[in-house]
Amino acid sequence: MRIGGIVDISTVDWYGNVTLMVFAAGCNFRCHYCQNSSLIPLDSGQEVGVEVIEERIRENRMLLDALGVTGGEPTLQPEALKEVYELARRWDLKTLLDTNGSRPRVIESLLSQGLVDHVALDIKAPLNPGDYCRVIGLRDCRRVVENVERSLEVCVDYGVSLEIRTTVAPGLSDGEDFIREIARTIKGKYKVYFLQQFNPLTDVLDPELKERGFTSRETLLHLAQVAVEEGLTEVYIKTQEKGLERVG
Ligand code: SF4
Repeated sequence: MRIGGIVDISTVDWYGNVTLMVFAAGCNFRCHYCQNSSLIPLDSGQEVGVEVIEERIRENRMLLDALGVTGGEPTLQPEALKEVYELARRWDLKTLLDTNGSRPRVIESLLSQGLVDHVALDIKAPLNPGDYCRVIGLRDCRRVVENVERSLEVCVDYGVSLEIRTTVAPGLSDGEDFIREIARTIKGKYKVYFLQQFNPLTDVLDPELKERGFTSRETLLHLAQVAVEEGLTEVYIKTQEKGLERVG
């Protein structure tokens, strides 16, 4: 797999699980708030064999509950991704996939083989091409929106443990109507929703956005309340200050 790095021990990527995180290199989106922007180019990172990941599992196995793959966009490397999850299974680890939802067939294939236990699926904007393009920095988002909708359906159909999340960035994805519309879209299918704080202290793609600073916890609390009003029954915010908090 082409990767940008490995974090041996993470306690924040899948709450309740100590997870070894593999950062897949390459992404098909250009989100303004991207926090791992050096991993966007398809030729970023380096190619490593599963034995490199296996060695890291071996070193940390006593502490680990799970292996997760994030990015970049992991589903752009379907064969390698499958190999990594099969490796996790051999070590009796639970598995997490972080995805932008653009490759529903890859997600479905992994789920049908029982290789993924938990999916963190980004719904980056209301599911229309205009809003999506504004956030993900692409020119034509019709197919993207269809694919994200399909990914959501696939996860719900398979009944996999699911975390739907939106990154809230100042002036980009922090509008009340923006979050209300996302909440309306997902509420018929799913009731749990995570709003995560934009962090300007990372490898942010858009320098202008970086200047705007953190999204405040108060903004996140307000938007979470909006999602609750729309009928989502379990809404969480994630902030630097307080970690994970349940609002609804
Ligand atoms: S934030 Fe957007 S551009 Fe960055 S890795 Fe995720 S999907 Fe790709």
